[in-house]
Amino acid sequence: ISKMAKSKFEYVRNFESEDRLLPNCWIVIRIDGKNFHKYSSKHNFKKPNDLRALHLMNRSALCVMKEYKDIVLSYGESDEYSFVFRKETELHNRRGSKLLTQVTSLFSSSYVFHWRNYFNDQSMLYPPFFDGRVVLYPTDENLKDYLCWRQVDTHINNLYNTVFWNLVQKGNLTNREAQERLIGTFSSDKNEILFSEFGINYNNEPIIFRKGTILLRKKINNPFKKKLEQVILPIYEDMMHDEFWLKHPEILSN
Ligand code: ATP
Ligand code: ATP
Ligand code: MG
Ligand code: MG
Ligand code: MG
Ligand code: MG
Repeated sequence: ISKMAKSKFEYVRNFESEDRLLPNCWIVIRIDGKNFHKYSSKHNFKKPNDLRALHLMNRSALCVMKEYKDIVLSYGESDEYSFVFRKETELHNRRGSKLLTQVTSLFSSSYVFHWRNYFNDQSMLYPPFFDGRVVLYPTDENLKDYLCWRQVDTHINNLYNTVFWNLVQKGNLTNREAQERLIGTFSSDKNEILFSEFGINYNNEPIIFRKGTILLRKKINNPFKKKLEQVILPIYEDMMHDEFWLKHPEILSN
């Protein structure tokens, strides 16, 4: 083996490029399901929101957080998940490709591994896969704005999808008709359609649909062991409000 390491072929290693991520920055990895529009329909996801699928996404993200203790917060919606690594992490020497490929591949394999526990009467027809990207955010403000951006996206998409699928499922419009009906409408118009035509108050829709899922590490009291234990908890709150950041100071001070 040592002879191999010093072989005349060894020089090819020098063709590899260094991809150490800039220090002192928040590292965000976001993964997103490839063509889940089709994947969800082929696997009979309930529209607009299949809870089994959301819980499976959350389960897969939990798997990633258990493996990488330096992830301080994760945020998921639809077929995507963002993982925030603490600024000072030296995991894999901050090599971007290592972090990105390991997170993406662990997430994908976990999604397949746990599928049966969530979709017990729906078999997996073909392997799902996810793309991933790494983004660096130098300031706390940038990181907060990133997370708010994703959560606003959740809101906009979910409001749209909720009206769209009500028009199709209860209003008997075709997909195209529903789409045309919604062209040029504002949030207020969509809320009004939901309320006047379907008796739905959007604010009463399940919070997991409206806000997405935030996974945080929390210390909780274990009454049996009589000590504090660290657990990863799903929470459903609004990251837009300062209140959120005051309530969970450990995210930024990690
Ligand atoms: P791309 O490969 O570019 O990401 P995509 O089809 O995955 O294409 P997205 O913008 O990522 O496009 O949208 C994901 C789609 O997956 C949603 O539009 C929705 O149709 C479907 N989807 C994801 N999660 C769920 C869910 N929990 N319930 C129902 N449908 C879902
Ligand atoms: P790292 O995460 O750094 O890659 P590793 O344990 O995967 O750690 P590798 O250098 O990639 O280290 O070596 C892979 C190891 O996996 C081998 O040393 C061997 O022990 C085991 N392995 C891989 N494929 C086989 C196989 N087909 N049969 C038996 N053992 C295998
Ligand atoms: Mg994509
Ligand atoms: Mg996708
Ligand atoms: Mg997506
Ligand atoms: Mg290996």
